[in-house]
This record gives sequence, C-alpha cells and structure tokens, in this order.
Amino acid sequence: MIMKKCALITGASGGIGSEIALRLAKDGFAIAACYCSDESGIRKLEKELCEIGAVYKLYKADVSDYNRIKEVFADAADFFGGVSVLVNNAGIAQQKLFTDITQEEFDRITAVNFKGVFNCCQCAVPFMVNRKSGKIINISSMWGVCGASCETVYSATKAAVIGLTKALARELAPSNIQVNCVAPGAIDTKMNNNLSDEDKSAFAQEIPMGRFGTAQEIAGVVSFLASRDSDYVTAQVITADGGLT
Ligand code: NAD
Repeated sequence: MIMKKCALITGASGGIGSEIALRLAKDGFAIAACYCSDESGIRKLEKELCEIGAVYKLYKADVSDYNRIKEVFADAADFFGGVSVLVNNAGIAQQKLFTDITQEEFDRITAVNFKGVFNCCQCAVPFMVNRKSGKIINISSMWGVCGASCETVYSATKAAVIGLTKALARELAPSNIQVNCVAPGAIDTKMNNNLSDEDKSAFAQEIPMGRFGTAQEIAGVVSFLASRDSDYVTAQVITADGGLT
C-alpha cells in the first residue's frame, strides 16, 4: 500500500498541468496524472517524475467521458488508497466571433471545461466525504471573472467552474473538504501559441507586471491550496494575473 496521499491532476500533459504534477510530487504527494491524447507531453512529465523519484501512475482519460473517469477513480482507490487532492486543470480554448461558434464547438468546450470538472468532482467526493478530508482545486481563468471578447464560450465555462466551486465548497464544508479556484491570467503555455510574438508583447505591455506568468507560478498557488496551510480557505477564487484584473 502506498503511504503518500494522492493528488490527481487532469490535463497533466499540458503546460500548467505538468508543472502542478511536478510541484505536488515535490510536496510529497503520490501523483495520478491524467491526460487525454498528448503522448509526448505525458512522456516528458513521466521522465521528470522519475528523475525526482515520485510515486505516480498515468491515466489516459477524456474528462468529458464520465464512465472512463469513474474507472480512473476506481483504479486510483485500489492503487493509491484514494484521491486526497483533485486538481481539475484540463481545458480547451477557442478564439472566435460569437456568431461563428458552431453547435459542435459549444458542446465540446462545455463538455471538457465544465462537465469534465463536474465528472471528476462527482467521482472524487464520496471518498473525501468518507475520510472527512480533501481538497478540490479548479483551474478557472481570469476570463471567467471578467469575460474575454471572442472567447464567449470559454469565458462562460470558466465562470461556470467558479459557480460550481463556490456552491460545492459550501455543500462540502461540513465534511472538512475545501474547494477553491485558481484564476490564472495570461500564462506562457501552448494554449497561447495562436498569438504571434508581436501580439504577445503587446498583451504583456497591458499587464501591470509587464510579462506573462509561468506555469510554475500557477503550480505554486495550487501547492498552497493543496497544503494544510489552506485548511481554513474555501469557496475562494485566487487570481494570479500580474495585476491585470
Ligand atoms: P495546455 O493546452 O498546455 O494544457 C491543457 C491540457 O488539457 C492538455 O494537457 C490537454 O491534453 C488537456 N486536455 C484537453 N482536453 C482534454 C480532455 N477532453 N480530457 C482531458 N484532458 C484534456 O494549456 P494550459 O495553459 O496548460 O491550460 C491548463 C488550464 O489552465 C486550462 O484549464 C486553461 O483553461 C487554464 N488557463 C490557462 C491560461 C493560459 O494563459 N495558458 C490562462 C487561464 C487559464
């Protein structure tokens, strides 16, 4: 039996998710790293987890697929003895005029960014309630707080994640489970690869700190929310955006 507490991170093959997995491994958690399709991203993370001697298991799972997510949590219960910290990080973005968004795009973005969070929370909560402890950390976005032009569905799903966080936090507070959100600003990952270097530096100039954030800086906030130091913090949205909003 593995003695370390397990942290399950979705979208662990991506920029922010990989850094969260590494940081929580360094903090002493065993890592259940979920990824969807990016094999090279997850192999890179695996190599880094090995290098630091982490206890980990990789799970290929689309967060929008409830049955597969149920299987992942059942396996994590057997392998790790349960998930103590859930980080809902998987997400997809889209930049498009509102009137050009198709029904299929709407369905896919909401299925991944919002239903995916619902699915993972629903599978994680029974174990946490039994244990009377647990931490759920949802990665929203500053656009979920203030809304972004040409990112209506993305912004709406991220706002929905904030609503779910605040409601679930109150429902689970008597069970000593903390539910919080991180709302990153512009973070230097491949999610922003669609921006040209010129657009990136123009955007950076609008940020009071004058630069994009790093995935490690978001992982640092998650590390706090996963730790005992945040035991009295729940239903909060912690924005990390260099002072932009
Ligand atoms: P990224 O594209 O590098 O990573 C996204 C991850 O989500 C990838 O690992 C991808 O494989 C995974 N994913 C996508 N669809 C999935 C699915 N159906 N099931 C499981 N996993 C899936 O981007 P990132 O910047 O690391 O984004 C991580 C999170 O941070 C996202 O939720 C994103 O919305 C949020 N965020 C990012 C920024 C930013 O500027 N980069 C800002 C605010 C919020």
